[in-house]
Amino acid sequence: MEFRQSSKLTGVCYEIRGPVIEHADALEAAGHSVLRLNTGNPALFGFDAPEEIVREVSRGLAESHGYTDSRGILPARRAVAGYYRERGLAEVDVADVYLGNGVSELISMAVQAFVDDGDEVLIPTPDFPLWTAVTTLAGGRPVHYLCDEGADWFPDLDDLAAKITDRTRALVIINPNNPTGAVYPREILEGMLDLARRHHLMVFADEIYDQILYDDHVHHLAAAVAPDVLCLTFSGLSKAYRVAGYRAGWMVVSGPKHHAADFLEGLRMLASMRLCANAPGQYAVRAALAGPRSVRELVLPGGRLREQRDRAWEKLNEIPGVSCVKPKGALYAFPRLDPAVHRIHDDEKFVLDLLLREKIQVVQGTGFNWPRPDHFRILTLPAADDLDAAISRIGRFLTGYRQ
Ligand code: PLP
Repeated sequence: MEFRQSSKLTGVCYEIRGPVIEHADALEAAGHSVLRLNTGNPALFGFDAPEEIVREVSRGLAESHGYTDSRGILPARRAVAGYYRERGLAEVDVADVYLGNGVSELISMAVQAFVDDGDEVLIPTPDFPLWTAVTTLAGGRPVHYLCDEGADWFPDLDDLAAKITDRTRALVIINPNNPTGAVYPREILEGMLDLARRHHLMVFADEIYDQILYDDHVHHLAAAVAPDVLCLTFSGLSKAYRVAGYRAGWMVVSGPKHHAADFLEGLRMLASMRLCANAPGQYAVRAALAGPRSVRELVLPGGRLREQRDRAWEKLNEIPGVSCVKPKGALYAFPRLDPAVHRIHDDEKFVLDLLLREKIQVVQGTGFNWPRPDHFRILTLPAADDLDAAISRIGRFLTGYRQ
């Protein structure tokens, strides 16, 4: 008797923690040291949790042994609502805020609550692949709109418009973007939101990197650019606050909620079905949002994240046949391997060969639903000298690599 995975998993992929990990684990078990540049987990690269957050979670621990409200504890939801009101979403109230076990859980809940069999969801390519995976799992059809590498990886509005059909129900915006590091100008967002408005699409705005911005780039909240569009905004503490393990994320509903009563009832039911988010993690939220926003020091000139972004970008562009658009935000670079120089037909194999030869783990571009095997994603989280050394080794590996 064979126990098989459910047919619902057909077509569901999540390569950031994909099969290459098992090879990396085996190498480590055999005594090799592997440089893991696959998951955006600041703690792995010497980023400490801000003290005020740890203190508040420790204090909260004594009181967090019970279930909480399904939407989350009030002080945390008040802090989230306050953050968005300050940023221009005047109407946001605690009742619009849901806390979750990271943004990941909330993405899954929101898509499950909204997407029906055969519904189309517009998702960028390249994407943070959870969006494509959960849409597929919900029975929906991910339809990928192009982000244009030749235009700083901004979404191609013509391509986006051309992909709207009478089955399209939602638009996913990832800004700042993982994996490209793009930060969208207001005009691009206005163009996207105008399409959402005209075609009655729900907007899912994944803005978890909203505070990780370099070179004076400004983040515009999608929900504030179009307050008349139904929008779910997602963010949390995993990245800017470097506490990914606390699993603290939130989702905020804004726009014409009176047209969404049925959907919101479904959302509340799903929130209740998972009882509540991890309570100690919820205590981190108010401390983080009321704290000094120390990520600013990391992204300003002289800051660690900024220096690492610069070093990664410079070093990648020094490799013959490799080009990389300068990331404007987030924690990644998404370089291109010129197919005329590096003949790669299977980028998963490329990533595995790199791992086996150089003991460096990156993620293949197709893992981000990019259609061709000519990109990979690297983290900009390691110290600048470590990045320098790792990218030199990737360059050395690429010299003469053929499939
Ligand atoms: N959204 C984006 C764009 C991400 O890059 C990530 C994590 O890498 C997440 C959401 C999920 O974050 P978490 O579940 O840790 O809050």
